[in-house]
Amino acid sequence: MKKSVITIAVAATVGLGTIFGGVSIKTEAESISSLKGEQNKIHDKRSSIKSDINQANDKINTLKDQQIDVKSEMKRLDFAIEDTITKIDDKSEKIKETKAEVAKLQAETKVIIERIKKRNVLLKERARTYQENGGMVNYLDVLMGSTSFSDFIDRANAVATIVQADQEIIKQHEADKEELAQKQAKVEKDLSSLQTMLADLKNMNQQLNQQKKEKDKLLASLKDQEEEAHEGMMELQEEEQLLAAQEAAIQKAIQMEKEAQARAAEEAKRRSTTSSNNGNNSGSQSNSTPNVSSGYWTQPAAGYLSSGFGGRGSEMHYGVDIANGNKVAIVAAASGVVSRSYYSSTYGNCIFVSHSINGQVYTTVYAHMTSRSVGSGASVKKGQKIGIMGNTGASHGQHLHFELHKGPWTMDKRYAINPVGIVPLP
Ligand SMILES: [Zn+2]
Repeated sequence: MKKSVITIAVAATVGLGTIFGGVSIKTEAESISSLKGEQNKIHDKRSSIKSDINQANDKINTLKDQQIDVKSEMKRLDFAIEDTITKIDDKSEKIKETKAEVAKLQAETKVIIERIKKRNVLLKERARTYQENGGMVNYLDVLMGSTSFSDFIDRANAVATIVQADQEIIKQHEADKEELAQKQAKVEKDLSSLQTMLADLKNMNQQLNQQKKEKDKLLASLKDQEEEAHEGMMELQEEEQLLAAQEAAIQKAIQMEKEAQARAAEEAKRRSTTSSNNGNNSGSQSNSTPNVSSGYWTQPAAGYLSSGFGGRGSEMHYGVDIANGNKVAIVAAASGVVSRSYYSSTYGNCIFVSHSINGQVYTTVYAHMTSRSVGSGASVKKGQKIGIMGNTGASHGQHLHFELHKGPWTMDKRYAINPVGIVPLP
């Protein structure tokens, strides 16, 4: 309140023309409150970015946990696959053994069939002998033809022995055949059950491998998501750093303007009786650097306007492009404080400058430079060289991408304005 009174008093001494060497006096209370407003906005934005970063971190942690789960699931599948492979090998080995057994049985069968054949020959031979003597009837003849009782006994025994021997041969035949049939049935059953088991195992193995493939895909997608989350966080961190640096730069720019206003007021008091000299800096004409204009703003680079502000196809161009094929300097468009001087993957070598002009915060951005000659935190004067025009970052052809924001720089560039009519341009 007291300061406003002083300002009015000073203004009264010089009349209504309030320009002192390019510095206009506005009520300080007004300008400071509007600056405070800007700072609060940046503060809010910064805390919202911080919460975004926390959210991104949470997401990364969740994704990491999910990856751990998938990995342990994959480990389990690996063990299961290993187990089925062992079982498949085992069953395959057993099938091999069983097949060998089948082959052995087939050889045995051959032997038995051969034996049966030989016995049949023997039986037939014997049958033929009896038939020649009249078959079974001849047994009686044999017995009837006995000359004595002892002869009868001998003959009867002989007949019994022959009959019994024939019956033994037939019994053996049947036993051999039975045994063989049983063996074959058992081996065939074994083989078929082994083959079923092998098929089941192979099927299970296929399913496990399929599951593992799916888990692999899931893991890859989780990794992608985590990478994206990291990238998102990198951008957020870049924005956070930018806004934090900007906050400090704005405060410094405000301080600079206050000091300039105080100096101007002093000067005005001292020169209140003499006519004011606007003290323009009329620099010499040069190809590489434009003349420094009077007023608050000057042209940031020599060249031609290759692209204006506004819609460019489907995209919005938030600045103007000044192109030049020669090696040319980039200068500060107004006095201010460098908030950031760094390399960005999109802006390339870029510099952000905060300005306080009549209590209004402005931000200028100079992008795609070959090199930067001022660092973050530096105070720059209007027309001071800050770098060399280039083609770094997302740029096609050497040019300066210049942005003017009436307010702080924000990610959505909501304060970006067309510099035409404010900043001298080619
Ligand atoms: Zn551009």
